[in-house]
Amino acid sequence: MFRDTWVEVDLDRITHNVKVIKEYTGYDKIFAVVKANGYGHGDIEVAETALAAGATHLAVAFLDEALRLRKHFTCPILVLGYTSEDYFELASENNISLTIIDDFEYDGKLNVHLKIDTGMNRLGLDNSTDILRMIEKINKSKVNLEGIYTHLATAGSSDVHYYKQLNRLKSLGLDLELIHVNNSAGMLAYKEMFSAGRLGIAMYGLTPYDGVLPVELKQAFSLYSKITSVKKIQKGESVGYGATYVTSKDSYIATLPIGYADGFLRVNKGRMVEIKSKLYEIVGNVCMDQIMILVDETISKDDIVSLISDEITVGDMANDLGTINYEIVCSITDRVPRVYKSNGKITKFNNYRF
Ligand SMILES: *Cc1c(COP(=O)(O)O)cnc(C)c1O
Repeated sequence: MFRDTWVEVDLDRITHNVKVIKEYTGYDKIFAVVKANGYGHGDIEVAETALAAGATHLAVAFLDEALRLRKHFTCPILVLGYTSEDYFELASENNISLTIIDDFEYDGKLNVHLKIDTGMNRLGLDNSTDILRMIEKINKSKVNLEGIYTHLATAGSSDVHYYKQLNRLKSLGLDLELIHVNNSAGMLAYKEMFSAGRLGIAMYGLTPYDGVLPVELKQAFSLYSKITSVKKIQKGESVGYGATYVTSKDSYIATLPIGYADGFLRVNKGRMVEIKSKLYEIVGNVCMDQIMILVDETISKDDIVSLISDEITVGDMANDLGTINYEIVCSITDRVPRVYKSNGKITKFNNYRF
């Protein structure tokens, strides 16, 4: 690591989150959702930890992500997104389960989950005749119907919409053994409905909805950097591109090696970071590779700066930026190395760039 900016992932916290959710729901099947490089945390590391903590399956968005996991894991892996029929054979050869969203012509040894749209209006069959016809067709072929599922649009935030989706599903009279419905929000808000769930955001210790949760989640993701320079500048000097920030008195300006190319976007201007338990403001425009902080004489080169931590949480940052916790962790790019901690020790380190 030749640049001092890193994401730290506390794997013990992921273990904790999976365990408390598994215990709370009592589900036998838990799909650990590790799409998008494990929501930015690292797909392989999170998958390994989640499986050891009680998850039974893995799920990702695309076949590419599934094939990467297959090199490391023998457990069932489900692709949640659409896969073209051109790649069914490849999925079959690698024992990857696919999501079926409409009619297909394939008659090989492939595990599939049928996706039903009950009100998200994104992917899946929504008409009961089509659904029943598709199940019949699959059952007559070599393709194995491993599961049937639907995705929730509002779990945790709207009971009315949840029950509308659930009632549509129930009205189909399908084999409940095969069905999985709940994502993180559903598992925490309506666990009693099923015995399998697709666990994403809550596994990372991030809250799936506003309001009180039935279990304590622990955020696994932190983002740190180290100061590369501190300089004293005079009153009336400007800082950074566009000269948008002008000092109102003689000031100390610190520079950090993180910028918008790391996913630390320009909208962060004016937000706070933490150095030695005190908060300091990001001033001037965020650059591609660097940001500047208004500090004081107590701060020096090599001091560690927390950009995301237990004090400035992923949730705080999402609120500040008018977005959701999911987007924050997924946005930090693979230019930032990931460091893994368990039992209080650094156990692994990934630099994706060399
Ligand atoms: C991403 C995803 C999940 C996981 O959702 P969380 O809200 O992160 O728990 C579950 N199911 C599907 C279909 C998904 O795409």
